[in-house]
Amino acid sequence: MKRKGVIVMTATILVVCISYILYGFFVPTPSKMSYNDFLDASGRGKISKVYLNDDESFITLEDNNGKKFITDNPRTEAFKEYLLKHDIEVKETRGQFQIRNFAILIGGSIIVFMLLSIISKNGSKQLQKNNRISSMQITPVNSMHIRFDDVAGNEEAKESMRDLVDFIKNPEKYSKYGARLPRGVIFYGPPGTGKTLMAKAVAGEAGVPFYSVSGSDFVQVYVGVGASRVRELFKKAREKGKCVIFIDEIDALGKKRDGGMDGSGNDERDQTLNALLAEMSGFNDSQGIVVIAATNRLDILDEALLRPGRFDRHIEIGLPDVKGRLQILKLHSQDKPMGKDVDLHELAHQTVYFSGAKLESMMNEAAIMAAKRDSGCIEQEDIQRAFYTVVAGAEKKDRSAISSMDKKITAFHEAGHALITKLMVPKNRVSKVTIIPSTKGAAGFSMNIPPDSMYFNKTDMENNIRICLAGRAAEEVIFGKDRITTGASNDLEKATQVVINMVRRFGMNERCGLLNYDILYKNGMGAQDMNMIAECKAYMDIIYKEVMGKLIQNKDALYNIANALLKKETLDEHELDEIMNIA
Ligand code: ADP
Repeated sequence: MKRKGVIVMTATILVVCISYILYGFFVPTPSKMSYNDFLDASGRGKISKVYLNDDESFITLEDNNGKKFITDNPRTEAFKEYLLKHDIEVKETRGQFQIRNFAILIGGSIIVFMLLSIISKNGSKQLQKNNRISSMQITPVNSMHIRFDDVAGNEEAKESMRDLVDFIKNPEKYSKYGARLPRGVIFYGPPGTGKTLMAKAVAGEAGVPFYSVSGSDFVQVYVGVGASRVRELFKKAREKGKCVIFIDEIDALGKKRDGGMDGSGNDERDQTLNALLAEMSGFNDSQGIVVIAATNRLDILDEALLRPGRFDRHIEIGLPDVKGRLQILKLHSQDKPMGKDVDLHELAHQTVYFSGAKLESMMNEAAIMAAKRDSGCIEQEDIQRAFYTVVAGAEKKDRSAISSMDKKITAFHEAGHALITKLMVPKNRVSKVTIIPSTKGAAGFSMNIPPDSMYFNKTDMENNIRICLAGRAAEEVIFGKDRITTGASNDLEKATQVVINMVRRFGMNERCGLLNYDILYKNGMGAQDMNMIAECKAYMDIIYKEVMGKLIQNKDALYNIANALLKKETLDEHELDEIMNIA
């Protein structure tokens, strides 16, 4: 038997012995009655039951109240007859007590043994797991092939990173002049904008190994594991000498410490963060190690992380503008056979708010479509389909299940969105309207492209609500109040979000004023929210009425668009303009 088995067995014997002793200690033994008192009591009919056992010196008896006593065992044959004559129930228990005690002892031992075995097995599994999670597999990419040329746009970020590359290559050059270059850089910006790509390019340009980890890898259930992983990572990196350490999603471990407002605090995260800060302060300026972290939001990070000597260079990597998008599109079409009819400039204009990752995925999707068709090159048609796949999910192949009534409702709903955009928000482009359901759940959609801009003004936000409400309004205008459908649920969600933001956060409602209601709420002034719902509803009602009015005025156009949709299923911008007689 292995050592573990011996331990379990010893523990079992100990547990059983102790339980047995405790059992004897706590379970009350019946009090003693003299034999004469017994004879007297049985003569007076006060004894109801006697347990006979020839092997024991005592017998157990029970009085009429169910109370148990013991008395001397006369061990005579006549005794049983005496008992029966006095109407006393006789129970012969020869050997039964011993057998029962023995059975309890054996049964108990087996149960305890099994329980201890299971516990010890789980314990050792847990131990193995702890060992496994405490040592994370960190293997660097030693020669990164990505260069700054592989990152399109983001010129300022690239410029700033060039200094860093020089520092990694020649740290002595800077330390000779007493210059301290950042040990830590934070890239912040929306997902998919190329933060990881840029970090890789820094390592590639500097020609040093690239370690990549995610903040969430460090945050574990077990306190101390994250901190030991951080130390392990830096130990390995130091052994390599110069390198770039990339920590994605740094917010997972570097969120502001709020002192546990929920009363909990987070020991594991604090310890991990402290370990990271200690390691970063620990390395030598001339070592040439740079830590690059990425996050979607800089404002939620703990200040301790952002202090000098830690992550003190903050670089925004935002969504690309038209120029950036064109560069990214060019980059990702470089190695693909592109058809002559593909206009990347036009595509860059169409893809407002697309991140680099989305653009890359769109080009990839187009390539897959062209490959499926085996058309020799990627044509405009593939790009357009890929565009809508990325925006709205893949078009559903099986359209047969949609009933004609559903189609009609969808057609008017989408026509409403398109018409109101054209009439009331002409600066937005409606590049496509369709009644073909997408896999993302929408029955159809109207593709709306707002112009590139940094800020939204009040009218822009109201226009957003107008466009959202137009689908429902069209249903009401055509089918009547009682036949409106659930199709507008997504639109209403979006519109509600916009109106709430206007009223609560952006000070765009006169009656609610310039207050930020989220902050009021945080400061215990939640009661103010009472009129907020009424305010939002009133705002929405006004806009809805306005949209309804516009649709009623232009009912013919609404019918024309909806009928064209029923016929063709999908209309592009040009076809829509034709229907509306817009030159
Ligand atoms: P993030 O780290 O910001 O979430 P990634 O660096 O992981 O984004 O980007 C994912 C992919 O998107 C990249 O591998 C690349 O193909 C593409 N990409 C994103 N931004 C750019 C860009 N500026 N230039 C070229 N490709 C980009």
